[in-house]
Amino acid sequence: MVPESLRLAIQSSYSLLLEKQGFKARSGQRQMIAAISRSLCDAETNGLSLMEAGTGVGKSVAYLIPSINIALGKNKKLVISTATAALQDQLVNQDLPNLKEVLGTPFSYGLVKGRKRYLCQANLDKSLHGGTSGMAVVDYFEGGQALGQESLKLFTTLESARTSDQWDGDRDHWPDTINDNDWNLITSDRHSCMGGRCPFFSNCSFYEARESVEELDALVVNHDLLLADLMLGGGVILPAPEDSIYVLDEAHHLIEKTRNHLSARMNTGASAGAVGEIINALSKMSEHFHASLDSGALATLILGLRSQAEQFLTAIGQLEVAAEPVSENKPDQIVRFEQGKVPEALLVSSLAALPTSRKIRTSLEQLSHEMEKLADSDSSDSKEVGQSWFPLVGEWLHRAESWHELLSRYANPDSDEQYFARWIRRNTRGGGFDFFAAPIDISTQLDELLWHRAAGAVLTSATLSVKGNFNRLLTQLGLPESTLSESIQSPFDYANIASLELCVDAPDPRNEFEYDQYVTGLLERAIEADKGALVKGTLVLFSSNRQMERVYEKFEAEWKSQILMQGLIPRMEIVRRHKSKIDEGKGSVIFGLRSFAEGIDLPGDYCTHLFITRIPFSVPDDPIEATISERISAGGGNSFRELSLPNAAIRLIQSVGRLIRSETDSGTVTITDPRLKNSSYSRYLLSALPPFRVVERRD
Ligand code: SF4
Repeated sequence: MVPESLRLAIQSSYSLLLEKQGFKARSGQRQMIAAISRSLCDAETNGLSLMEAGTGVGKSVAYLIPSINIALGKNKKLVISTATAALQDQLVNQDLPNLKEVLGTPFSYGLVKGRKRYLCQANLDKSLHGGTSGMAVVDYFEGGQALGQESLKLFTTLESARTSDQWDGDRDHWPDTINDNDWNLITSDRHSCMGGRCPFFSNCSFYEARESVEELDALVVNHDLLLADLMLGGGVILPAPEDSIYVLDEAHHLIEKTRNHLSARMNTGASAGAVGEIINALSKMSEHFHASLDSGALATLILGLRSQAEQFLTAIGQLEVAAEPVSENKPDQIVRFEQGKVPEALLVSSLAALPTSRKIRTSLEQLSHEMEKLADSDSSDSKEVGQSWFPLVGEWLHRAESWHELLSRYANPDSDEQYFARWIRRNTRGGGFDFFAAPIDISTQLDELLWHRAAGAVLTSATLSVKGNFNRLLTQLGLPESTLSESIQSPFDYANIASLELCVDAPDPRNEFEYDQYVTGLLERAIEADKGALVKGTLVLFSSNRQMERVYEKFEAEWKSQILMQGLIPRMEIVRRHKSKIDEGKGSVIFGLRSFAEGIDLPGDYCTHLFITRIPFSVPDDPIEATISERISAGGGNSFRELSLPNAAIRLIQSVGRLIRSETDSGTVTITDPRLKNSSYSRYLLSALPPFRVVERRD
């Protein structure tokens, strides 16, 4: 039960917020506030809830009001995690400031970013001046590249802005865009950061930002940062799970993001290059330690490591030999292993490489420890040497850990609890072979890392269930059955403001030429007609880049110039140009892929006609979905009904959600794929969509 004092605080915050914004109470919003309050205070739910909230419910207000009141009341931190930067901006610049003004209890909030958004002054110093001891990283490697003039100029400006306190070292606060190649040279990761041993620690941008995080009551983060913290055991970057109430917005991304964090990958070409660099650097290191320090044991460790690295280079070569016939004639194509079973030759070479990768990892752990000891030493010479080598050894160790992780997953059989999708790909651009292993089931890890430990968690999104059934998601996420699940309907009057056109006589999409021709003709006619009807923004969603390009190429040059196509123009620039054309009273058409099907807000005239050119089934070569599908079939299930169809339904709901963004919006969704009308599963998909007025279209 919600304690009376909290209930009153929550009610009062909501009333005051509505009054401040001049809004009326929405029944869906009230329903969501009540459900979240109950779940966070009720022992029976373990503080866990799944809240599906249709477009227009106003879910950020509906979760912020109860969660911040309850977090403050229970002396916990509130951690709000999202998948997109756009939502983070909205929370930090709009929702939380509004709430702060009306909440009875004062609270602080802020955006928390990962280490890689901050300048590493040690690396900037190394890039510009060769580092504190004059031992620049490039000195260790043959053929190290000097900085280009542009980079040199930029780095000098950054250094001067930072030392004069005109810039706080946050990449997002620099007025111009800094390209990734430059930025990667001057930021750091946890493996190469020296922390308190670093000579720049006292005014390090990252640690300055980290200090202020400890004071915050509400922290806005992204799912990657949250997962990175949990993988480190929790409580390292963010407050400990036991002290935190979480709101995971855009929670439909959580499975994929978690799987990504738990996956192992390795490119043989890049790994061989890295091992070669390590061998060269170790030779120089060995000379250095013989010459400058009395370090017999250290020299022995370095020599041993060098020999292990040479053996590992041979092992990588054997992996490539084994991969060659597997991916023959399939450059850049995924070669997935059925049921995740690694072919014999690859298994043998992985088993052969595994002990060496383990030895390298152990030796590097020892070497890293030795560098730490040197960095802590009283002798300034030793200190400088330790400080110079520590970041580099940290990077090697990180690489060695990922090699070992990947090889372990290739060399060891699956268990009932832990099984993987495994695939390789010949990389014609970067060279070598990419090896992958991704866990299929992430429920145990999420349960252990998060659900079991958190003081409470609310997972929310517009698409979490399939027709109100949350069972599949509960199982996939490892959430207990006691989790409170609610589906809150959108307040929009879909039947009166939007229609859904089904193209009943469209050709079969498998007949590419005819189908593309049909889609092109339809688009031309519709856009022309839309112009006459003063319809403004059109969004066309494709499920594959190939189809989008084929259709684009069929347009006359005059038409092409009016289309803003993903891939030709950056995504945010497309949105900017599109809105500006509409604001000028012109029509505008966007051609986009799946990333335009969610996280893009085109309210009002910015989107009055939405085309979906194909039911968004997973691509057939998606190795993870194919492996899951095999397991369902092997267990006697129907993978199409249990996996492909529900996934397609969720993506379709997300796609159609682009059309109506507010109560005053109206428009048409045209789905050109005739299977939405003619197939055995059409009713299933149609019934999952909002209640549009359905119209059959014949051309
Ligand atoms: S403390 Fe870490 S991040 Fe900060 S300057 Fe030093 S190495 Fe870079």
